[in-house]
Amino acid sequence: MIEDLWGQVQDELLKTVGENSYRNWIEPLTLDSHDGGIARFNAPSRFKRDWVVRNFAEQIRQHLCKAGLQIERVEVHVAQSKPVPVRKVTAPRAAPARPAAANEPELPSAPLDGRFTFETFVVGKPNELAHAAARRVAEGGPVSFNPLFLYGGVGLGKTHLMHAIAHELRVKRPELRVLYLSAEQFMYRFIQALRDKEIMGFKELFRSVDVLMVDDVQFIAGKDSTQDEFFHTFNALVDQNKQIVISADRAPGEIKDLEDRIKSRLQCGLVVDLHPTDYELRLGILQQKAEYYRGQYAGLKLAPGVLEFIAHRITSNVRVLEGALTRLFAFASLVGKEITLELTQDCLSDILRASDRKVTIEEIQRKVAEHFNIRLADMIGPKRTRTIARPRQVAMYLAKSLTTRSLPEIGRRFGGRDHTTIMHGIRKIEELKAADSQLSDDLDLLRRLLEN
Ligand code: ADP
Ligand code: MG
Repeated sequence: MIEDLWGQVQDELLKTVGENSYRNWIEPLTLDSHDGGIARFNAPSRFKRDWVVRNFAEQIRQHLCKAGLQIERVEVHVAQSKPVPVRKVTAPRAAPARPAAANEPELPSAPLDGRFTFETFVVGKPNELAHAAARRVAEGGPVSFNPLFLYGGVGLGKTHLMHAIAHELRVKRPELRVLYLSAEQFMYRFIQALRDKEIMGFKELFRSVDVLMVDDVQFIAGKDSTQDEFFHTFNALVDQNKQIVISADRAPGEIKDLEDRIKSRLQCGLVVDLHPTDYELRLGILQQKAEYYRGQYAGLKLAPGVLEFIAHRITSNVRVLEGALTRLFAFASLVGKEITLELTQDCLSDILRASDRKVTIEEIQRKVAEHFNIRLADMIGPKRTRTIARPRQVAMYLAKSLTTRSLPEIGRRFGGRDHTTIMHGIRKIEELKAADSQLSDDLDLLRRLLEN
């Protein structure tokens, strides 16, 4: 049976794409038909269709082929939504749904930061999906996933994206009631309502919105009555097909003390993580900011290479990156000097020191062993065959360039080798990498893996 086969293929895909992606993209697909070398799938929304086509179609095809089908192309279509039975309205509701601004309660939205718009959000690989999903929500069209759950470490742009959605909706769909607030503010309102015996008003208010955005939802974990109320609000809005956007600092399943029923509801929509920034994204953000500052501090000169240097060295998060640039421009304009590498190092020395990632030799050995597919034990062991010795030398080379360890110290960590052996290894790699582009790519990749 073809359905069974798709089941098997799904199991395989789960292994290759990981659980998050599987839940978001693969599981919602249904196999519609296959003939003439074409497999047709249905996806529940346009957004999901586009993403699957762009990112998973080829993998799906390969897995289908592995399972024994002759598939040349994978097509994904948007499932025709089931016809909704027309509900008879017996008693017309008192007021037409919209616009009814006059008697609707004022929304207690948190203030939005005017700078957090889509225009100022720099898109790169690490935040591409989060950005696309936020854009989709900001169109204010039919709800295609609910909730949108954004998660990621501090300073990676969760709040920025939520504000951007709110800004955009205000312009494009002013009739929609958009409520943005932090989970903390949600709790505060709730407690206030309890105290003032206004709980009905509170419920009504939160159920009257069209788009609800709650930032940093991990905050309500462990706060039982607030969680409870949040859960009911959430369900009521989902039932009415109202869009919800949630952010947290980790995936729903990993938030401690969050009730299981809430976790599973949060996982029902689209769960997207903002990955730590990579070099390209950091540079992009710095370039955008620098452009802005150039307007602010007319006449200030920025030497080439400065932004690249900062993007390389400050890898923690965007907030720190921005802070560094702000300080740098302010400082340079105060002292009336060009922003050179030297000035940058001086002015940012504390931040640079703090973000010096301390890569350990053990980490280097582990990553290099993984990369070349040899055993970690062989890194420090005595074997001298090329397949082992070369990766070992690569690790020595990286240990020298990424840590501050001396040659004898490095030698000790490579099974007590003499410092001359280490030196020889490093020279060997330096020599080879000039001629061997594969090796130099390997080195670049490993360096990036280790520095991030
Ligand atoms: P989070 O809510 O994830 O902790 P924020 O949204 O508050 O992070 O972002 C921290 C700072 O970094 C903000 O000033 C934000 O504008 C900026 N920022 C984060 N990501 C980007 C990006 N991709 N492009 C431009 N600015 C960004
Ligand atoms: Mg935030």
